[in-house]
Amino acid sequence: MAEFPPDMVAIHDGARPLVSGRVISEALQTCRRNGAAIAAVAVKDTIKQTGDEFRIKATVPREDLYCAQTPQVFRFAQIMGAHERARAENWEVTDDAALLERLGHPVFLSTGDPYNIKVTVPEDLALVQWRLGENCSMRIGHGFDLHRLVEGRPLVLGGIHIPHSRGLLGHSDADAALHAIADALLGAVGEGDIGRHFPDTDPKYAGADSSELLRRVVQLVVDKGWRIVNVDVTVLAQEPRLAPHIEAMRTKTAAVLQTTAGQVSYKATTTERLGPIGEGQAIAAEAVVLLTAAPADDTTHPEGVVV
Ligand code: MG
Repeated sequence: MAEFPPDMVAIHDGARPLVSGRVISEALQTCRRNGAAIAAVAVKDTIKQTGDEFRIKATVPREDLYCAQTPQVFRFAQIMGAHERARAENWEVTDDAALLERLGHPVFLSTGDPYNIKVTVPEDLALVQWRLGENCSMRIGHGFDLHRLVEGRPLVLGGIHIPHSRGLLGHSDADAALHAIADALLGAVGEGDIGRHFPDTDPKYAGADSSELLRRVVQLVVDKGWRIVNVDVTVLAQEPRLAPHIEAMRTKTAAVLQTTAGQVSYKATTTERLGPIGEGQAIAAEAVVLLTAAPADDTTHPEGVVV
């Protein structure tokens, strides 16, 4: 059990969640050596002082200017005494170090960290999420689908009708390729699967055009701030031969995804007559997608300046 009162105390701002062990250790060491220390980073930007209506009055030399961070580390008794005096005399200061400075006690800087930011505006929160890996600028998704091949149904793959004696059985048009892509997109953004968004128990989706369902999935992805980088699909079918239709599937899929055809790849393979696909009972598709964070769309300033 730690002794109380302690020799030293490190005071930290709860709005600085990215503080590192190194920054804390250096502040503690500096306090141990010099009596009081605060983490700080050098000012990088040129500092302007303004007067009326934001007219610049002066450019402040920045060589010896630093931004104060936390932790701020003190001898416990000294900072407690300073706080008691500040309370009694109603001092207004913006950090703990300023109390000791006002009392004439030396306070030293220790090496802070540019990432040890104070979360103040929404943009700061986005930076924290990025730093914690929650907001990586890329996402990957995988999808798989399989439908039974039966008599009396049209064969729809990659959004196009493919002439064949049989077609895929399903509640919608059973386009396994577009379903796999939709699942890959939904997976990449953590939105479950196509069955959750378009349940096959809902009569509204009976015979649905999968291009339309995929368009809605793409809209969801875009609304969540993502953009498609590329899509790679492998269709597993013993028959018909898909090679003559690959380019049409690619063009149609790219149109649905609102990408170029170059961002979409289709491959077809048989399964060497093995298993249900090889025996012609089913067709399956696998898809992977890569997404990237879409640039902010408010790139036009009110004055019409495009940045
Ligand atoms: Mg399906």
